[in-house]
Amino acid sequence: MTWEWYQGSALEYLSLPAWAAEGIEIGFSSRLGGASKPPFASLNLGLHVNDKQGEVLENRRRWFSEWGASWSDLVIGEQVHGTRVVWVDKGMAGRGAFCLETSLLNVDGLLTQSELGLAALFADCVPIFFYHPRIKAVGIAHAGWKGTLGKISLNVLKQLAEAGGKTEDCWVALGPSIGSCCYQIDQALAASFRMNFVQNDFLSALGPGSFSLDLREANRSLLIEAGVKPDLIWMSSACTACDSTKFFSHRRDGALTGRMSAWIRLVGI
Ligand SMILES: [Zn+2]
Repeated sequence: MTWEWYQGSALEYLSLPAWAAEGIEIGFSSRLGGASKPPFASLNLGLHVNDKQGEVLENRRRWFSEWGASWSDLVIGEQVHGTRVVWVDKGMAGRGAFCLETSLLNVDGLLTQSELGLAALFADCVPIFFYHPRIKAVGIAHAGWKGTLGKISLNVLKQLAEAGGKTEDCWVALGPSIGSCCYQIDQALAASFRMNFVQNDFLSALGPGSFSLDLREANRSLLIEAGVKPDLIWMSSACTACDSTKFFSHRRDGALTGRMSAWIRLVGI
């Protein structure tokens, strides 16, 4: 079973039944059901995109409420298209939830063994969710082309392994992101991927100096090469740029657009 749409109490969102059955809250928001006006209509959850702060906070309140969470029940990283991953504990409760200034600086990946929710923001980049059943840990990583090329997902696996969580037991889910259908890159970037990846099935030539890049597949190949079992990887096939009804897309809409949010939390620990 893969990602499925759910109608929550106020918002619809994507979730993974197999993960929910394990007691993991996991979700990815749509752009629908919020208070923001165009070009951020309507459930923009990003505070950094020049939308009205009051409307974004109302949107966040609605999204976190779907999970029964308040501001102090979660953490958000700054997200700089880097590869730094940090462990989050109760002392960081509420960081980044209510304002940008308190978000965890220079962080694109979050891990926790606490009951704090982890949230991250997306408008084409790949949301990568992690669950380690043996050491009861969850994580989220933000992987655009920079994070993918920098192999942020391997940093997450490394930190889980250091905490005693073997890679072969790790569950990973890749959420909606820009698909290869809409992600055209140039020769120089394609060459960087070729140099840094063992196999590059995720690149295809479109014409002279032009390639399509499948970011989700690039991350999946990294994970499998690192030892994640293919049947423990759940991959969405949704393209954020194709579906303008459900999703914001930076590539499609430019800088003035909103952000969806990924959510993961261990419950009942
Ligand atoms: Zn597409």
